[in-house]
Amino acid sequence: MARILFMNGGSEGHINPTIGVVQELISRGEEVVYFCIEAFRERIENTGATVRTFDDQKFIKAFISGGRNSLLERINGLLLTADIVIPSVLEQIKNEKYDYIIHDSMFGCGRLLAQILKLPAINSCTSFAQSKESIELELEHFSNNVPAEILKPIYKKYQNLTMMVKEKYDIEIHSPYEVLCNPAPLTIVYTTREFQPNGVSFDQSYQFVGPSISTRLSSESNAFIRIQTEKPIYISLGTVFNRSINFYKLCIEALGNTEHAVVMSIGNNVQLSDLGEIPTNFTVKPYVPQTELLPHTKLFITHGGMNSTHEGLYFGVPLLVIPQSADQPIIAKQVESIGAGVSLQMLTLSAKQLREAVDQVLSDSSLLTAVAKIRESFRESGGYRQAVDEIFKFKRELGI
Ligand code: UDP
Repeated sequence: MARILFMNGGSEGHINPTIGVVQELISRGEEVVYFCIEAFRERIENTGATVRTFDDQKFIKAFISGGRNSLLERINGLLLTADIVIPSVLEQIKNEKYDYIIHDSMFGCGRLLAQILKLPAINSCTSFAQSKESIELELEHFSNNVPAEILKPIYKKYQNLTMMVKEKYDIEIHSPYEVLCNPAPLTIVYTTREFQPNGVSFDQSYQFVGPSISTRLSSESNAFIRIQTEKPIYISLGTVFNRSINFYKLCIEALGNTEHAVVMSIGNNVQLSDLGEIPTNFTVKPYVPQTELLPHTKLFITHGGMNSTHEGLYFGVPLLVIPQSADQPIIAKQVESIGAGVSLQMLTLSAKQLREAVDQVLSDSSLLTAVAKIRESFRESGGYRQAVDEIFKFKRELGI
């Protein structure tokens, strides 16, 4: 039995794929101490792991204070979380011994902690893997297209923050890529090599284990499923970019009072009362047990988040992808390229266009064939069990 320090942050999309992995690790005899924000305590504790937390308000404030407009600002935000996460973690694990660390590819300062604690590290990547070259290209593009007066202070801040890390923790940060992607000797990616853009370019230190989907049964799950009398259309913009009242209203305009049953998850930032009258064929909730609902769903209208996309395809549901931000346009492109769904543009979307796209997806048999194919490949890839096989292989190689 080995003792694992598991570092994560506070975002649903980065936490959910790790649930099955942690459960499986524990069932194979590992002990897991899992750091995240308080909101996910119950979900993680249900796996059998010990949960420790850091200050979520300070963590989110630090991340956001880096700026939201460009990649380098988000990287600065991640560096700013170091002062919230690292001292707190070091204090809480004082006098404890760990055999290895598994850390999120973005949040929780995993690469820094691995170096400070001198622990073998495994990277848990809940989005598509990104190469150093692709990040450098993106930053170069940014540098070439942004006026110097905007660019300079952002780069200066990056330099100051990396200097601060060097002074406080004696760790050298060599590139923004290290901060953003937290590279490690083993990276577990929760997709297949085939679905990963340019999958063949990643060496064997990247293991593509497929979607890691486990039951996250909540008390309302079964009751919620039971009220679905027919296969619904399910709509969700995920948990981050989900504030668009106009989009939800447009869905109601497009699909209200039709023959379709519709379940719409609107998040906690939009109120039901903001949406006007809710047609009787709509069920609208701030949050639904998505992985319980998807097996009963005939079409998923999604923002194309990494998890939502994989969960939808894993359960064989065709997708209508309306990307909002982040990696979602790339994911939407991948879905279209394998023929498992159709992608629409949020900015120009009309109710008529949405209704037509729904009809198109529901009547296109070639699309269903493509969905069945990717569903099969996702099922065969092994998910969290394969992830733990890879983790144990890594342990054996290191003699842990
Ligand atoms: N989710 C859920 N119920 C909801 C909305 C979202 O269970 O009503 C879960 C969903 O199953 C997925 C995660 O939240 O695992 C969202 O992750 P994704 O990567 O799709 O999007 P993000 O929220 O990170 O934009």
